Amino acid sequence: MLANTRTDARFDLIVRDASHVWHPYTQMQTAPPPLPIVRAQGVYLYTQDGRRLLDGISSWWVNIHGHSHPKLNEALAAQARKLEHVLFAGCTHLPAVELAERLTDLLPGGLTRVFYSDNGSTAVEVALKIACQYWLNRGEPERRNFIALRHAYHGDTVGTMSTSEDSSFTRPFAPLLFPVARAQSPYCYRCPLGLERATCGVACLDDLQRLLREGDGAIAAVLVEPMLQGAGGMIVWPVEFLSGVRRLCEQYGTLMIADEVLTGFGRTGRMFACEHAGVRPDMICLSKALTAGYLPMAATVTTEPVYEAFLSDDRRKTFFHGHSYSANPLGCAVALASLELFRTENVLERVRALEQQLRSRLEPLRALPHVGDVRVIGGVGIVELVQDKQARAAGGYLDRVGPLLAAEFLRRGLLLRPLGNVVYFMPPYVISDQETAWALDQIAQALETWRWPEPC
Ligand code: PLP
Repeated sequence: MLANTRTDARFDLIVRDASHVWHPYTQMQTAPPPLPIVRAQGVYLYTQDGRRLLDGISSWWVNIHGHSHPKLNEALAAQARKLEHVLFAGCTHLPAVELAERLTDLLPGGLTRVFYSDNGSTAVEVALKIACQYWLNRGEPERRNFIALRHAYHGDTVGTMSTSEDSSFTRPFAPLLFPVARAQSPYCYRCPLGLERATCGVACLDDLQRLLREGDGAIAAVLVEPMLQGAGGMIVWPVEFLSGVRRLCEQYGTLMIADEVLTGFGRTGRMFACEHAGVRPDMICLSKALTAGYLPMAATVTTEPVYEAFLSDDRRKTFFHGHSYSANPLGCAVALASLELFRTENVLERVRALEQQLRSRLEPLRALPHVGDVRVIGGVGIVELVQDKQARAAGGYLDRVGPLLAAEFLRRGLLLRPLGNVVYFMPPYVISDQETAWALDQIAQALETWRWPEPC
């Protein structure tokens, strides 16, 4: 461990007495105090009290090229010297235009119009609003319902909570949420139909078809997290389910929205997860790794036909949505520099090598008594723990296993935040083979000696 020699009395004070800060998701009085991070480099975070922690969750899935990357730092500083920010209604700037060009070059063909916002939730919220008004502008106002999937997570705003699965995240806000039809998701380990993947023929897709049929021309869009449903349990899809969603959206003439807030920019081994099935959604939502973990920024990208439905001198057809920091030039500049790194540094090859390493080291863990399932996709390795393998019993997101294991990993110098009984490792792509091997050793050793906690 590298000792951090910085002594900052004020920082000490803030950390010891964090009374003015309201941290997300951690208001339990028994929760450990927040980690006081003073700097970060590559895959490591450094704490005020001298610890070095491997960032095994890419700082909530945003970091891809490592912390404090010299090229990204330089792009940020250079842009700050030119133009730090300007409103994006009635003004424009080169970083936004260039980024839109680069994104549309990289995205599946036909996704040509980029709408900027601030974060993953707003990227999805924008898509929902565009879909709703698109049908209105086209004279089909009855198309205003949405279909989302079981286990979905799309964000913490009211619209995105409505489309997310009913959970502890959304329940207190139930009176605010609008109704959304919910189709089965292909959670093969806990197959909703009790089938085996080898022979099921993705029969769970029939549920989406049923909802589209029953929706009877009133469905504005189907919203999915392609290939990897994240916060809902790190569920990896069979590719056939994704192609099936696209096919059904076409068959029933509705829009398909791909929420690639988590999966975009290489996380699943392809630049965008939709590429696994060669599908082009009508809208794609991007954020998180868009700026490689530097700045909050998002883009909702759609097609010409959708954009054209808003082009009118009739102001009622205007998409009245905008944020103070839409298309922030600093975010755009870092995003451009990040995309340049993809081009110059074989980033996707590195993710694929990481995938192989994750597979070969995690698969053997299936033999452990509490390991129910192992899933790997791109740079994400997932171990689903169960109390007993036969019943596959576990407590979901609120399972006490999560915080207990997080504390154990932290003791070992590895920052992970299991989703209850689902442990996952999702490091920045710059992680070396040795660092990955070390992190996977910690996970394996912790799970080998793991005893399921007694009920409180
Ligand atoms: N969509 C997906 C698939 C996500 O995983 C997340 C966040 O984890 C969001 C949307 C919301 O993003 P944000 O936290 O930036 O609002």
